Order: sequence, then structure tokens, then C-alpha cells
Amino acid sequence: MKRRGILIVVSGFSGAGKGTLMKALMQKYDNYSLSVSMTTRAPRPGETDGKEYFFVTKDIFEEKIKQEGLIEYACYCGNYYGTPRAYVESQLSAGRDVILEIEIQGALKIKEKFPDALLLFVMPPSAAELRNRLIGRGTESMEVIDQRMRRAVEEAQGIEKYDYIVVNDKLEECVEELHGIIKAVHNTADRNLLWIEQIRKELEELSKGEK
Ligand code: ADP
Ligand code: 5GP
Repeated sequence: MKRRGILIVVSGFSGAGKGTLMKALMQKYDNYSLSVSMTTRAPRPGETDGKEYFFVTKDIFEEKIKQEGLIEYACYCGNYYGTPRAYVESQLSAGRDVILEIEIQGALKIKEKFPDALLLFVMPPSAAELRNRLIGRGTESMEVIDQRMRRAVEEAQGIEKYDYIVVNDKLEECVEELHGIIKAVHNTADRNLLWIEQIRKELEELSKGEK
């Protein structure tokens, strides 16, 4: 029986390693489709338009909102970020698991619109390690790093709303943990109602035939 795709949200404080984790997960397993978000933030060195993000102006972003072309969007540290609708819908209908790497306001909007979405939260091993990673990444000024650390304090208030947390200590282990959780969620009874119904029918038919 054809497997239904799961809409998976991955959130976590800036610097926790979400981007690194997603890259490693996609390299190891080919059954995930990673949604590319639209943002008004400037590209970091090494980021390309259409790969990490679709980098657009505020006007274009607001036009996309008007056209209902985003399934969710949020403002994060002064910039807009949003998930384009078309890709997510087409991948889900093709039965693929779609991953949205988004912040908490967007994650909660997704849960409202898609109640069976799976919400995962990536934790750093400690707050000090989070700050070290942000500094070590070398892509933001100390002012922006401090802003993101303050944002982490706010985001930490909402962690219980997620379905699972994963700690990104050793990258490889965290990739396996994420993949394992998703695999297990595919097997929950309420995600397999059609299959359960089919086996019931088969059992009934077979048991009638045996009378
Ligand atoms: P996010 O996407 O959550 O903001 P990144 O993926 O950019 O975070 O990672 C932040 C920094 O931490 C990067 O420099 C990355 O190389 C590093 N990093 C990510 N995962 C790990 C890990 N498991 N151990 C050590 N450093 C890591
Ligand atoms: P960054 O600027 O570090 O790439 O991303 C900042 C934050 O925005 C991260 O928490 C990231 O997960 C989040 N983000 C990226 N894309 C989206 C999106 O499409 N929607 C929402 N709501 N958040 C996003």
C-alpha cells in the first residue's frame, strides 16, 4: 500500500545545527524533500539563491503573501521567512516526506493547519555550546549573535509544544535519531488506517471462505 508523506517541521535555536543536520540527513537518505524557504534576509557568504533560500525583497515577499503562495510565514529578527506552498503540496501528494526547517511561530501555524504534522526540536548540548557554535560559524556580528541568543530565550518557552526533541551533540548520531523517529512515526496506527481497514477486510473474507 502506498505510504503517505509526512509533513515534518524541524526547529531549534539559531546555531543549534539545523542546517548542518538537514544537509547530512539529505546526503544519507534520499526519501526526504527539503522545502526551500523564501526570505528577505541577505545571503550569507556561500549561500546561493534557490539553494539555501529564495532571497527576495520585502515587496516581492509581501506580494507572495497576498497571493496566498506561502503556507506559513513569520518575522524573525527583523526579516520575513516563509514556506512556498506549491512545492510542499506537490511533494506530499507524491507520497514524499517533506521537511520544513522553520522557527517556532511558523511551526505552530503548521500544526494548526496540518494537525498530523510531526514537530521536532533540535537542542544544542548546552547554552554555552550554542553560543560557541554561533561564534564559530563566523557569519554574524556579535550584535546579531546576542540578538539570536535573546531570541533563543523566548523560543525555549515553546519547546513543550513539539512532539520530540533531539540533541545535536554528535552529528552522525543525531541524524540517525531523527531518521529513526520519522520511521517510527510512519508506523503509528492512526497513520495506517487504510492499511488496517484492508487487512480487516482480507481477514473477514478469508475466514468466511474457511467456514
Ligand atoms: P542552524 O542552522 O541551526 O542555525 P548551523 O547548521 O549553521 O545551525 O550550525 C551552526 C554551527 O555549528 C556551524 O558552524 C556548524 O558547523 C556547527 N555545528 C553544527 N552541528 C554541530 C555538531 N554536531 N557539533 C559541532 N558543531 C556543529
Ligand atoms: P537563518 O537566518 O539563520 O537562516 O534562519 C533564521 C530562522 O528562520 C531559523 O530559526 C530558521 O529555522 C527560520 N526559518 C527559515 N525558513 C523559514 C520559513 O520558511 N518560515 C519560518 N517561519 N521560519 C523560517
